[in-house]
Amino acid sequence: MSLTIAFIGLGNMGGGMAANLLKNGYAVRAFDLSEDALARAEAAGASRAASAVEAVTGADAVVTMLPAGKHVESVYAGEVFGAAKAGALFLDCSTIDVATARRVIEAAEAKGFEMVDAPVSGGIGAANGGTLTFMVGGSDAAFARAMPILSAMGKAVIHAGGGGNGQAAKICNNMLLGATMVATCEAFSMAQKLGLDPQTFYDISSVSSGQSWSMTSYCPVPGVGPQSPSDNDYQGGFAVGLMLKDLKLASEAAASVSASVPMGNAAEALYQLLANQGKATRDFSIMIEMLEGK
Ligand code: NAD
Repeated sequence: MSLTIAFIGLGNMGGGMAANLLKNGYAVRAFDLSEDALARAEAAGASRAASAVEAVTGADAVVTMLPAGKHVESVYAGEVFGAAKAGALFLDCSTIDVATARRVIEAAEAKGFEMVDAPVSGGIGAANGGTLTFMVGGSDAAFARAMPILSAMGKAVIHAGGGGNGQAAKICNNMLLGATMVATCEAFSMAQKLGLDPQTFYDISSVSSGQSWSMTSYCPVPGVGPQSPSDNDYQGGFAVGLMLKDLKLASEAAASVSASVPMGNAAEALYQLLANQGKATRDFSIMIEMLEGK
């Protein structure tokens, strides 16, 4: 008999993820506060629940894909813990702060449940295509149980250690991405001012020590490197607002352990400026336009 999964939070990311669970033979009970999200989940084959409690009651596992830590904590503490059957597994795939992730997992364990934090790398395209990467925090036993469910939604599932370590891996990675994107943008911008053709600079730097993913997989200059959001007027891709969210989570986590992250802090300030210019929904490689004074 196939497992029944309660899926809470079927927005941009969760909608595609739930559809992939259905394609892989899981039964999905969907709950979201948004009628549009619920209608889309129903069209993909999920059954609609009238509340989180209804979705969770009798389910073998609960997957959440919610905006932030406060939503995750209130859904688990307020609804999931009280309604879940004994032995149900909890998987939170949202990107949230490490402290809340650890608190919610500890609370779940205190009630006898197993839980993992399993944030993702990859955007809406990867969620729809089932090609997300999951970074997972939790006990070995919880990870082993989560593995087949996460594999149905992704191409890679990596155990990062105990509870909260998935979120730690995610924000460290995205802080690095934010900083390398800013650095890549300023290098291209300066190269051009110094009279270098962007394609020529790419040909040199992409095989030299300045190379990074921001350059060779996601070049911020239109027409240079493989197809990326810069070729589509910085539409789609990974929004400035989401990068800013992750950089704020990174500074918060850094402060909590007294880590020095000057590059991460600088990237956060620059992405805040970009968001304040009304560019929060554009792809984060649009940083190059701000550095060029556009
Ligand atoms: P979204 O806003 O599109 O979806 C979140 C959904 O949660 C919404 O449909 C909302 O109605 C629902 N929701 C909020 N509170 C709820 C509650 N109490 N009960 C039930 N439903 C509730 O956001 P998204 O883009 O799908 O992102 C979800 C998470 O994934 C975020 O933590 C985000 O940081 C992370 N993430 C997003 C991307 C991306 O490219 N969009 C990439 C990686 C990670």
